[in-house]
Amino acid sequence: MEKVFIKEEICKGCSLCVSVCPKKILELSKTKINSKGYAPVQCINQDECIACTMCATICPDMVITIKDNK
Ligand code: SF4
Ligand code: SF4
Repeated sequence: MEKVFIKEEICKGCSLCVSVCPKKILELSKTKINSKGYAPVQCINQDECIACTMCATICPDMVITIKDNK
């Protein structure tokens, strides 16, 4: 089930969320560039997400939303 929702168009690729994720499942895209010219963050393993919301909390631009449908 998808838990990590990323508004790719407003991501600045600052990597703050990447650095705090305890499961190391966030990384900047190696293939995409958004209209602002940044490589947006992606979740590479939705199943591993523990919905701790650290990424959503640290992001200065509220790019990430966590939905945990347990
Ligand atoms: S909610 Fe937690 S485990 Fe899931 S992607 Fe964000 S920081 Fe990583
Ligand atoms: S989602 Fe937010 S914290 Fe993560 S790279 Fe993009 S702008 Fe930075």
